[in-house]
Amino acid sequence: MLYNDQLRAGLPTLPPHMASLPVFKGYPVPYFVGLIDGVPDFRLVDPLKLKRCLEFEACWLCGKPLGAHRHFVIGPMCVVNRITSEPPSHLDCAHFAVEACPHLINPGAKRRSANLPDELRHPAGTMVPDNPGVTVIWESKTYSVVNAPDGGELIDIGDPEAIEWWKDGHRASRAEVVPLFEKSVGRLRKVAEDRLDREHASAATRVEEIAALDVDIGRAMRWFLPPE
Ligand SMILES: [Zn+2]
Repeated sequence: MLYNDQLRAGLPTLPPHMASLPVFKGYPVPYFVGLIDGVPDFRLVDPLKLKRCLEFEACWLCGKPLGAHRHFVIGPMCVVNRITSEPPSHLDCAHFAVEACPHLINPGAKRRSANLPDELRHPAGTMVPDNPGVTVIWESKTYSVVNAPDGGELIDIGDPEAIEWWKDGHRASRAEVVPLFEKSVGRLRKVAEDRLDREHASAATRVEEIAALDVDIGRAMRWFLPPE
């Protein structure tokens, strides 16, 4: 039976919110996960679940109503551009995800698009693959849904109330965060420059956009951990 798997040994205690999720291959199946022929594929987002999370403020990971606190599980690039495709979660669900299965909760990192039904292809927007090894839990009270260039919806995660940095299932230190953040920022700059090249941007546009990116990077660096 696909769904009769026991949770694998060594996982952290499942938070009550996630206790009723189906289990597949030893892991709880997050609410958002899409199915192919009835089989969950952890890399896929079910567009109906995405819609429900956005409309009814349900938790991305357990599907239950969110309370007053909303936590986005994001990569460091999202700390810069403050845009994600994935709705927020309960804090206990976010903690389970980053502790137990960090590779499961960032489908953008490995999302495949070939040979998939259209409705299961990645969500709106051209997301930059962001799998730098550091994950951020970003609490926000000011997020909003925005239109993506391709007609779908993305989320502006707003200003943070609090940030936690995680790496390999544990809270990350500043020494771990900074180099991985810089690597992500390098990729973000490259993507921006490549796009400006493709668009044959004028020198003025180029200067303006790169300066705006630098402002966003500076803003993100204010949320680094304090020096040890
Ligand atoms: Zn939850």
